Amino acid sequence: MTDRTTPLDLTARLAESDPQLAELIDAEGRRQFEKIRLIPSENYVSRAVLDATGTLLTNKYSEGYAHKRYYEGQQFIDEVEELAISRAKSLFGVDHANVQPYSGSPANLAIYLAFMQPGDTFLSLELAHGGHLTHGSPVSATGTWFRPVHYGVGHETGRIDMDQVRDIAQKERPKLIFCGGTAIPRLIDFPAFSAIAREVGALLVADIAHIAGLVAGGVHPTPVGHAEVISTTTHKTLRGPRGAMLMTTEEHAKAIDKAVFPGLQGGPHNHTTAAIAVALKEAATEEFRLYASQIVANAKALAEALAERGFDLVSGGTDNHLILIDLTNKDVAGKPAAKALDRAGIELNFNTVPFDPRKPWSPSGIRIGTPAVTTRGMAPEHMPRIAAWMDEAVEAGKKDDGDSLDRIAAEIREFTSAFPIPGWPTP
Ligand SMILES: *Cc1c(COP(=O)(O)O)cnc(C)c1O
Repeated sequence: MTDRTTPLDLTARLAESDPQLAELIDAEGRRQFEKIRLIPSENYVSRAVLDATGTLLTNKYSEGYAHKRYYEGQQFIDEVEELAISRAKSLFGVDHANVQPYSGSPANLAIYLAFMQPGDTFLSLELAHGGHLTHGSPVSATGTWFRPVHYGVGHETGRIDMDQVRDIAQKERPKLIFCGGTAIPRLIDFPAFSAIAREVGALLVADIAHIAGLVAGGVHPTPVGHAEVISTTTHKTLRGPRGAMLMTTEEHAKAIDKAVFPGLQGGPHNHTTAAIAVALKEAATEEFRLYASQIVANAKALAEALAERGFDLVSGGTDNHLILIDLTNKDVAGKPAAKALDRAGIELNFNTVPFDPRKPWSPSGIRIGTPAVTTRGMAPEHMPRIAAWMDEAVEAGKKDDGDSLDRIAAEIREFTSAFPIPGWPTP
């Protein structure tokens, strides 16, 4: 049984009508509180974002766009959506924003629908080098309905090779070029991508799902002015609810809006739109700019501490929130290491590394990041300690030493209890 000790408890009322479900949510809340969350695509949203998400805005249908809806009763929903849009436009400095995509994957699908015909060629980062499934993986609709060609990172540098991008673009003449991905520890050179796209007559799409909060906080260069279309999730570094946005120049606004609705979706999730508006307001504050720079400071401190312990970092380090680790020199694969680390209280994911000789379901690496621990108030001074626990847990995992993993988990529970998360009562 989960203790219900404080009136802060979000699920107190739910427990009266559905105790079974309330129990599961509480168990997940405790898990999120007790672990060190290093998954770079995850975060902890504010109490205000949680509040907006759990409102009766979920009751309303509003297919269409503000003042052009297919259902009556939109007096307030129109204002909610317009508020989210105007905040997105002012935060990122874009001409146009669509806040309706249900998540990052459908947002990207809308881009293909807007600009591509089945079979058309596009260029993107290879999945195994840090791309995303929706950038043309063979197991994604985007890889079967269209014709993807890929660039990668250099073998020695671990960084995107812009000469290779240009060579492939000139040979293949893609309609779209995607930049951005899920496992890129370095800055993305938007002006260089834009120059190549212009040379070959392609549209440039920047998928900033991972780094939107860093862009908003001014610690990563912006794609605005370089990419015609910008796609982002709202739930990663941007620290909003699960959702997505598409931002474009005026020229492409109509095509994007039509692709989202009626091209792909029905009614927008208005409670999510409201929570996106809240997150965008928070992201426009000085406090958020400090948060963004602290994410990067933490990632650099963690990378340095891991490198000192002999961890092999792809590209040698990080410029952003993310660190990709090749475990080959530690004589362990990514999956067993990730499982051992999770038991020890450190939550992360196994990941392919560039030129991985192993298979995607049991690759050579792990991927970590600092957005979530930074939200909790952890600072560079805490990172050597986290690196030491990681080192210990990886070694304990190799020896199947469950007792050591459980001891580390207990130490981490003690440690994380000093760093509150919104929505979970601090003991
Ligand atoms: C997370 C992510 C997506 C997809 O987002 P979902 O909300 O999981 O569908 C798309 N592109 C990139 C680069 C991502 O990191």
